[in-house]
Amino acid sequence: MAAARRCYDVRSVERAEVLRYLGYAGQPVTPELDARIDEVVARCLDVCRPCGVTRVFDVSGHGEKNGAPVIELAGTALALEGRSIAEHLDGAVAVGVLAVTVGMGVEAELRRLSLTDRLAQVIFDAAGTAAVERAADAAEADVVAAAAARGLHCGTRFSPGYGDLPLATQPVLLGALDAGRLLGITLSPALLMSPTKSVTAVVGLFESPRPGVRSSCAGCPCRDFCVLLRAGSTCRG
Ligand code: SF4
Repeated sequence: MAAARRCYDVRSVERAEVLRYLGYAGQPVTPELDARIDEVVARCLDVCRPCGVTRVFDVSGHGEKNGAPVIELAGTALALEGRSIAEHLDGAVAVGVLAVTVGMGVEAELRRLSLTDRLAQVIFDAAGTAAVERAADAAEADVVAAAAARGLHCGTRFSPGYGDLPLATQPVLLGALDAGRLLGITLSPALLMSPTKSVTAVVGLFESPRPGVRSSCAGCPCRDFCVLLRAGSTCRG
């Protein structure tokens, strides 16, 4: 089935996440900085346009390339190479693939702030990273719902560049989702995405629940976007 673009209603980001991206580790935050963070985060949420694309591919086989395992997927040129992803997806019967972005507006505002207000730029950058991770949570919620419709259970996200999953996976992954056309995501020669606040990831679909993954809705990052919960069910069956 062709991929479709979905836009996500990201109304908030975790303040602790923003502080973490800013490099805070428990130092006191002055009331002035506190107010500045709130103001810039609000501006970022106003500018960002979180959208994404997801697709689910069945695992069609397991191969090997240059001595490393390769997970092959049905109906796509996308193949997942490396020991880290083989371990992460061990036992998966299908793989959800996602790409999300918060759009070029965030990029333009970051450029503007880099010329006018360095502190705001740094906070805006952290807020943009937190916002795109929220968009990835929303896309993951879509994959969890697609898995539940098949009686399957999702693991957690894993992105190209983590462990030994090559960054060179990006062009084929984005192509499999038609993310250039649907989301406007492009790659530099160094395989970095533009808009920079974009995320790609894969999620395994398994026949049994993964230990410790989504064992309760209370702390689930997908909670705000979960169609299952809204319909009165859960991904636990
Ligand atoms: S909010 Fe609950 S039902 Fe929805 S994905 Fe998370 S754990 Fe599953």
